[in-house]
Amino acid sequence: MRRLVWVLAALLLAPGRLVAQRAGDDQHWRTQREQLVATWLVPYGITDTATLRAMRTVPRHEFVPPHLRELAYEDRPLPIGHDATISQPFIVALMTQLIAPRAGMRVLEIGTGSGYQAAVLAAIGCRVWTIEIVAALATSARARLERLGYQGIEVRHGDGWAGWPEQAPFDAILVTAAPDTIPPALVAQLARGGRMVLPVTNRDGSQDLVVVEKDASGRLTERRVAPVRFVRLQREVR
Ligand code: SAH
Repeated sequence: MRRLVWVLAALLLAPGRLVAQRAGDDQHWRTQREQLVATWLVPYGITDTATLRAMRTVPRHEFVPPHLRELAYEDRPLPIGHDATISQPFIVALMTQLIAPRAGMRVLEIGTGSGYQAAVLAAIGCRVWTIEIVAALATSARARLERLGYQGIEVRHGDGWAGWPEQAPFDAILVTAAPDTIPPALVAQLARGGRMVLPVTNRDGSQDLVVVEKDASGRLTERRVAPVRFVRLQREVR
């Protein structure tokens, strides 16, 4: 009888403890996110309110392998398997800020990876179409984004070099793997008044983050923003 009482008590108390633990967990990660924003984003020029709000809310620790969770809010890229990496938070914030994101904007991302960049855009209210060439990453990112409750994101498995013509034009395009030249299909799928942000590999192997703007008359301008280091944009072997 006494044992029964203990079992009942344990059953009654357990869920409460779990809830308390989860709340503590959330607070732990939230504090780390705030520190990341205050230490590595704001002082280095991330000022866009929508971008900062998203960086404060999206749980990056859910997008990295479990054994790397404690490093999730350091400003560094982390390996996510299949030779892919989740970008450094500052670069995610910079690329997001460079498109001047607003709710309702239609955004194409090339290189879904973990799904983190897509989640940041969705947290701002953008509609996101994202393409990943590694099937396993596309599948796990899709499942993760669904589990975390993100809406308005479509993940496609395929070669992003060709873009997503059925959904074009896009108000903004983010490429998170580096090609040697700017993919012509992506330029074509950019709306007038739209912006594309992408890393481009130079002849000497270095990379620059480039912003391509298409003005209201369709004219293109290009500017280099910062030296970066991304994985190469692969080309599908047919
Ligand atoms: N944006 C991601 C990080 C991407 S790392 C995140 O937030 O986690 C770059 C990704 O681009 C890798 O997952 C890689 O598999 C993918 N990739 C490389 N070449 C590609 C291509 N041609 N089309 C689509 N995805 C590609």
